[in-house]
Amino acid sequence: MKRIACLFLALLLILPAASMAEPDEEELDFEEFDPDAGIPVSEASWDFPVALEDMNPEYIILANKHYLLDRKYAPKDLVKVPSKPKEGGIYWAVKPKDGQKLRKECADALCEMNRAIMDDAPEYGYRALYLKSAYRSYSTQKTMYNNRLKKNHGKDDGWVSRPGASDHQTGLGCDVVPSNWKDRAMNEKMMKEPECQWMAEHCYEFGFIIRYPQDKQEITEINTEPWHLRYVGIPVATYIWENNLCLEEFTEQLQQAIQDYLDAGGDRAKVEAFIQTPTD
Ligand SMILES: [Zn+2]
Repeated sequence: MKRIACLFLALLLILPAASMAEPDEEELDFEEFDPDAGIPVSEASWDFPVALEDMNPEYIILANKHYLLDRKYAPKDLVKVPSKPKEGGIYWAVKPKDGQKLRKECADALCEMNRAIMDDAPEYGYRALYLKSAYRSYSTQKTMYNNRLKKNHGKDDGWVSRPGASDHQTGLGCDVVPSNWKDRAMNEKMMKEPECQWMAEHCYEFGFIIRYPQDKQEITEINTEPWHLRYVGIPVATYIWENNLCLEEFTEQLQQAIQDYLDAGGDRAKVEAFIQTPTD
């Protein structure tokens, strides 16, 4: 009897332990069927060769006849480009009193670039660079466009962009010419000048691209302009240079990368500022 009682007691001790084991097993089973645990968390990755952190959406904004800027679009950080070459500035060519304006980072980069070519000048005989035209407001562009039309019997010859379509309105586009061209009408012959060849090869090191390259005229729909530099920041300029792109092609690639990222479940907040859509 005593032995039976002992067995009974032992059972009493074992049973709760056994019954406690069951919820554990159930919990394990439950986890397997947990809808949250069952679906792997998809972390869409940014596969584009230029990292999002390396691009400033404002610096890569596209302005052309299909991506028109609003007439009110004006960058907030425009500064007068310093004119003293000794301080790394760039010589003036037009309206030195008023001062040519560019966005701060672009103006600084232009001065850096000018200093670099001047450093090479004693050895290679480069002439000083002149900033012929920098920021232009929508209304200034409108006046220029209408003047060009009048001069050209109402025909748009592709030399002056229509208002909203000018890269100069971004405050990041600038016409930089060798000093012997400062009073000459600009044309593609300027491309042969050693200063322009230097700029074409080195401007990316300072964050610039040649905005209207000769081999991209069909895409940009703008005649080649070896003097028109556009600031986009060093990582983007380097990518564009290494892959021989124009800004239109870069924009197309980037917008596709954004679409792919979003389709893969990427965080819209991370890429929202980079989204650009045509205005026509
Ligand atoms: Zn220009």
